[in-house]
Amino acid sequence: MPKTITFTVEVNDDFDSLNELENFVNQEGQKLKQELFENLAENITVPDRTFSCPNCGNEKSIATGQKGRKLKTIFGDVTINSPRRQCKKCYSYFFPLGRGFLGKGMSRPN
Ligand SMILES: [Zn+2]
Repeated sequence: MPKTITFTVEVNDDFDSLNELENFVNQEGQKLKQELFENLAENITVPDRTFSCPNCGNEKSIATGQKGRKLKTIFGDVTINSPRRQCKKCYSYFFPLGRGFLGKGMSRPN
């Protein structure tokens, strides 16, 4: 279902040149992209299925809430709250929305 997301941008009213205005719009546009991505990514729901532990392959895990997760995007680094699970066998934590879901070219910053 379509939704409406509202952003507020604080704008000074003393631009000295179109260059200055151009730089401002560029910077704010970048921030808006990151904010929009974070906002939308956090609303993606994890499909109801079993997830294999990336460490040991075990398929039994428990949901452990959300955790901040840094991602690299084409418009810079973003941090999203992502659902996290813990393996019942080796106790390692993992994000069920893994690399396959992240898509080509997107990765975690090192
Ligand atoms: Zn495991």
